Amino acid sequence: MTTPNTPIDVRSWLPGDAAAALEELGAEPYRGRQLFRALWQGRLASFEQLEVWPRALRARMAEAYRLDRVVPVTEQRAHDGTVKGLLRLADGEAVETVLLPHRYGWSVCVSSQVGCAMGCHFCASGIGGRRRNLTAGEIVDQVAWAASVAPGRVSRVDLMGIGEPLDNYRETVRFLRLVHEPTGFGLSYRHLTVSTSGLVPAILKLAEEHLPVTLAVSLHAPDDALRERLMPINRAYPLSKLLPACETYWQRTGRRVSFEYLLIQDVNDSTTLADRLADQLTFPAHVNVIPWNPVPEHPFRPSPPRQVAAFCETLLNRGIPCTVRRELGQEIQAACGQLRRSGAIPVQS
Ligand code: SF4
Repeated sequence: MTTPNTPIDVRSWLPGDAAAALEELGAEPYRGRQLFRALWQGRLASFEQLEVWPRALRARMAEAYRLDRVVPVTEQRAHDGTVKGLLRLADGEAVETVLLPHRYGWSVCVSSQVGCAMGCHFCASGIGGRRRNLTAGEIVDQVAWAASVAPGRVSRVDLMGIGEPLDNYRETVRFLRLVHEPTGFGLSYRHLTVSTSGLVPAILKLAEEHLPVTLAVSLHAPDDALRERLMPINRAYPLSKLLPACETYWQRTGRRVSFEYLLIQDVNDSTTLADRLADQLTFPAHVNVIPWNPVPEHPFRPSPPRQVAAFCETLLNRGIPCTVRRELGQEIQAACGQLRRSGAIPVQS
């Protein structure tokens, strides 16, 4: 039997949910811990593989619950080591997930929705709108896929793929707790990043969850008129609401907010705008500058390297920490803003 808090797909279970569900089936609660560990450390693909369990218990689990896994349809590899996976979900929908190499190890950029409703005018992921939210289990399973293809340990996860994570709030928070579990991936909250286009009520709610994750806010403009041209969400949550919410996030979590700023030639990349941005950031913040990555449907051009450097230098001169993101995986369309929802892929039986 399930309750509204115990999803049917066991991948979304925390160890406590697993123990409670197994108790309801008449099994000892420690079986829940066994199941959780086997799911995420052993990459369990079916209850049948749990050979340490009595056959009858495996059969009862298979009757009552589902264990779906994401299935890689394609894996593309870039020369820089980036791997992009097109992963099929149980209902035939598909999302993209990217494994990225860094000096410190490997990170994975996961999707939180099939498509995206936010419609940012520079991004491929929102073209075609949102089809559905992912479950927490489907998001963790993307990490499991990445771990299975990574040559080393995956130590960071960014919710920066397809979708607006805070538009799928409940599953996003469950995902953060799941991937942090020591008997699963055991990732530190400090190594998890939630990106948002600026859903103010959800930012304030997240600030109260006591999860010290990094909040990355897609800003892309220092004033409302320009930001509205790039991001329709700014009409609902203008900078006068967004920036105070970010300051609250810093105050409640102690985590410096990271502002993402895509640089688009002759649109938002002048040093005057960099100065205006510095005026706005009156609390501890970091600006991550990203030269815009081409998306054929959008008419922009990336800022030239000289302009990227000038923009960043202006911020640094004003005392705002600024880094330029090293773009990885561009040749396989795996860079920021280039991921896409693919059409549904038939599930083979
Ligand atoms: S940038 Fe993020 S929020 Fe905006 S459309 Fe793309 S995926 Fe959605």
